[in-house]
Amino acid sequence: MRKPALALAAAMLVLTSCGSGAAGGDGTGIREDGGTAVACAERGSSPSGAVDDAERGGGAPGDADASETPEETDAGRTAGGAESGSGADEANAGPGVSGGPDAGGQSEAADKAPPAPLYRMNGVYRFVPIDETAAPAKVVLLTFDDGPKDREVLERMLDALDGHDAKAVFFVNGYRAVKQPELLQLIRERGHMIGNHSWDHIDLKQLDDDAVRDQIGRVQELVGGTVGEEPKLFRPPYGSGGDRVRKIAEEFGLLYTTWSNGSLDWDANAKDKPDVVIRNVLDQLHPGANILMHELPWTADALDELLGKIEAEGYGFLDPALIEIPTADPDAGGANGA
Ligand SMILES: [Zn+2]
Repeated sequence: MRKPALALAAAMLVLTSCGSGAAGGDGTGIREDGGTAVACAERGSSPSGAVDDAERGGGAPGDADASETPEETDAGRTAGGAESGSGADEANAGPGVSGGPDAGGQSEAADKAPPAPLYRMNGVYRFVPIDETAAPAKVVLLTFDDGPKDREVLERMLDALDGHDAKAVFFVNGYRAVKQPELLQLIRERGHMIGNHSWDHIDLKQLDDDAVRDQIGRVQELVGGTVGEEPKLFRPPYGSGGDRVRKIAEEFGLLYTTWSNGSLDWDANAKDKPDVVIRNVLDQLHPGANILMHELPWTADALDELLGKIEAEGYGFLDPALIEIPTADPDAGGANGA
């Protein structure tokens, strides 16, 4: 029911008022936003300096209020504790198994009949089988933030993913997507999921409720109007959100997530060094890993080899379409409660 044209027009207006600082950006900087978009996008965070620290140590990037560091970048390692919050009660795991690309067909048929969820996210943003007998625990979720930026880089990533029959989540920013909506369509056509990463890549903790709704809602509209389906997953920039932002995201029917394995591909130490990206991810590999990467040239360079090594360790790739999205409905059994 949404009208693409309208959504885009509205988005454009906003973008303009936001300053469109996002000019070039792209791959350049470590800061995924290349520093460019800063004016409007990054502003909440620290200037450009502080890239490392914070996240690095990797405290739970978790919603962890914690470090609102530069990019969500956080490298986070995971948080320690566990406990699975998100309730996934009805584990009606269908017979279908594993991240099998059953849904593989990016056909419309697949779109219309979403597969039964086989995994749910736990309290530390890892993914676990709803029914261990129906799906393997050794899987990882691949995610790429801060796009869409550059078609060439994106296509290389998509090709690498295809080479391993892997499906990923691309967490996009509205201010970027509105400039290249065709890249949203490309991501979708290639069978991947589009996640919401806020309009401006801003620290949402600095905003009041209405502004947070605006940051999230406009991306829902833009993506929905462009590819016909609104995002189901939300990742706050810098992993900064906390319960308040989480609840607002849930108002939109979104599953709020951060990550459990930070590739640190945004860090200066990884720039132009695919090997570093690969090592960082492998060092933190664990069942159900929620791997944070970015749409960066060196990450694209690393991808094929990285995926091969992850497979060599016995892991499969979790098709995001198989993730359970708890309903925000309070009667649904306190699904997202925790
Ligand atoms: Zn980001």
